[in-house]
Amino acid sequence: PAKPIQIKMVLLGESAVGKSSLVLRFVNDEFQDNKEPTIGAAFLTQKVRLDDAMLKLEIWDTAGQERFHSLAPMYYRNAQAAVVVYDITRASSLDKAKAWVKELQRQANTNIVIALVGNKLDLVAEEGVEPAAAAAAADEASGGEAEAETVAEAPEGRARQVQAEVARAYAEEQGLLFLETSAKTGQGVVETFTEVAKKLDLA
Ligand code: GDP
Ligand code: MG
Repeated sequence: PAKPIQIKMVLLGESAVGKSSLVLRFVNDEFQDNKEPTIGAAFLTQKVRLDDAMLKLEIWDTAGQERFHSLAPMYYRNAQAAVVVYDITRASSLDKAKAWVKELQRQANTNIVIALVGNKLDLVAEEGVEPAAAAAAADEASGGEAEAETVAEAPEGRARQVQAEVARAYAEEQGLLFLETSAKTGQGVVETFTEVAKKLDLA
């Protein structure tokens, strides 16, 4: 078989949005509830088979902390792909993601493939359930004592702060791939890396 095509990929995003967890899920199919923060950057590789090519993703998982920001260009320089991650339960993390996208558009390869990824999908209440309907159900279940604000929250007590449609609209406008994921359950994780791989210009 032919030698795999090496692809340099970088993960960027605010601290604690789940960058390392996404990579760990993708590479080892594992999840750690209290993942220790990345210092500097971590390097992992994973092969991805496309229809007519084998790719070796060389993944640079960067630290999100501001004090490491000046190192970021080392990791996105010459990168063919970037996964910019935010946490759907933290609106501020989308702002940070947008800042990374802007920096990539200015400083990285002009043909870099960028995916915007909203992580921690497992934390939000079931999609498709109307808050009003859920409120009524909860109200009934508790004998009328339920507080409206508790029903929109996920079991772990966190609510979605970034609507998928809002992030998707931004991603489309900027020409980015857009996916929502959970590193915890694995939802959307393989798809993220595969979609990015498919969009690469391998010629
Ligand atoms: P990073 O700083 O962006 O690399 O974030 P980490 O991967 O270190 O994750 C930060 C924290 O969020 C850790 O406690 C993870 O266990 C947790 N975490 C990461 N991804 C998810 C997810 O998809 N769902 C949930 N519930 N927690 C997550
Ligand atoms: Mg990390």
